[in-house]
Amino acid sequence: MRVAIYARHSTDRQNTSTQDQIARCQKHCADQKYHVVDVYFDEAFSGAHMDNRPGISSLLMGAFDNRFDRIVCEDLSRISRDQGDIAHFFKKMAFVGIDVETIAEGVINELHIGLKGTMNALYLKDLSDKTHRGVVAAVLRGGVPGGRTFGYEIVHALDANGDPVRGKRRIVESEAAIIRQIFEMYGSGQKLKHICEYLDASMIVAPGGGRWNPTTLVGTRSRKTGLLRNTLYKGIVTFNRQKYRKHPTTGRKLPVVRPEHEWIRVPIPELQIVDDDVFDKVQDMLDQRSSKAAEYREMVKLRSSEETKQQHKNLNRNWRERQIKTKGRVTAVFSGRLRCSEHETKIGAHWADHYSCMIKECVHRSVPYDQLTDIILREAMRLKPEDIADFYDSAPVREKRERSGSRIQAAETKLQGLRDRAEHILNSLDLASANIWFEDNAERMRLVRLEIDREKRKLTEVQPPDKARLRIIHDRFQGLIAKLRAWSRDPEAVTPLRHMMKLYHIHANWDETSKCWYRTCTIEYDFPAMVRILGQKK
Ligand SMILES: [Zn+2]
Repeated sequence: MRVAIYARHSTDRQNTSTQDQIARCQKHCADQKYHVVDVYFDEAFSGAHMDNRPGISSLLMGAFDNRFDRIVCEDLSRISRDQGDIAHFFKKMAFVGIDVETIAEGVINELHIGLKGTMNALYLKDLSDKTHRGVVAAVLRGGVPGGRTFGYEIVHALDANGDPVRGKRRIVESEAAIIRQIFEMYGSGQKLKHICEYLDASMIVAPGGGRWNPTTLVGTRSRKTGLLRNTLYKGIVTFNRQKYRKHPTTGRKLPVVRPEHEWIRVPIPELQIVDDDVFDKVQDMLDQRSSKAAEYREMVKLRSSEETKQQHKNLNRNWRERQIKTKGRVTAVFSGRLRCSEHETKIGAHWADHYSCMIKECVHRSVPYDQLTDIILREAMRLKPEDIADFYDSAPVREKRERSGSRIQAAETKLQGLRDRAEHILNSLDLASANIWFEDNAERMRLVRLEIDREKRKLTEVQPPDKARLRIIHDRFQGLIAKLRAWSRDPEAVTPLRHMMKLYHIHANWDETSKCWYRTCTIEYDFPAMVRILGQKK
């Protein structure tokens, strides 16, 4: 048996230090042949609330992590002197299946804690006392309550008395085949996600219309919803699963699941689609798979607000640690900027330094990092000073230049006009009208000046550097590329280069002589950024 020892020092009993308590517990465990896996303790927190004790918090975390099967302590007052706290602690331990043992009292049960009776009070009394004879009779006649169910269609028929039968159903063979296949796939251990993907890929429309999702198949355990839990496929109608209870404050009627023994099950063998053994096997698997998740959810509910806070703190700390790590790590120069020229899609990192196009059939699948670095560096080395000059000489850039130039001119003319007018008014010596004019036009003048500044900045962006500067820029760029060739993740080169190279289009080419594919790339440069960064005088 795996055991955790818990000890707490409190000032009211000077003679039992935590070390003494631990020693006594260890001796007790050795006598009982227990295997001590953890020792938790709190020092000098006597009288403090349980929530403030780090030792007991770690003990609880250890319990939820299934580190041990039993907790041993000197006596119950070590855990807390507060009856309520002890009860809360005990309930949690009972839920995760961990015993509490003290040297004085042995294994603790509800009686020690005074819980007897309170547990029973937790169960709600069912007050409704209706019989469902009418519904059962209708079902036995072949009518099934509820709406349309996948796998069946509703038929309109008359019974022996000539009255219409409501809810009579018939199996739809095409849908029944799909249901059998879903059960078979799940029974053979396939993941819900895969089953849904398969169904979507087979162009089968989900019962609710549209795509399939795992909830459609498994629903929720307590309500026994979901296709795989529908007993109708085994030829059994289940109803009376819910009742409606008025909400105490809003008065609204809310559905509440009845306990399972109140459910009514009526066999209708002619509606059976799935064999008994297949259906039962799937139910076992569903329970097994969902109990783990349910256990975890229950455990979360049992956590006190302090534990939840602690949990959040831990998550936050882990997240922060990851953030700090990522910040320091330098990415590849082409991270997030690769494009497949065949599909116009992103080529992303996929695993272990391999990169792939999003389209599965693409030739650019699983391309190694080193190969991409190689073709990109080779392409970058081909950049000549004339290429930069050509960019500034290209029609769109020339147009931008001209547009900015003419805008500046127009704005300056406007500004000059305003200035002339201002001078004229000041000379007229009519102070009243001068004040009015300045009030109206001061803001206009400010805006025109701002526009001139803005256009001038735009103009410098598209102003070509002179020949000498161009050479310097090109030399510095090749210097950065050389750095990357030495170490492809050198941050001193990656950071500035990411400003200058926006996109990498990867092409596949067929080489006729050697009969194989090879890759090339074209780079979209941000030349204004390059000139801005590398053109600075040093
Ligand atoms: Zn592609």
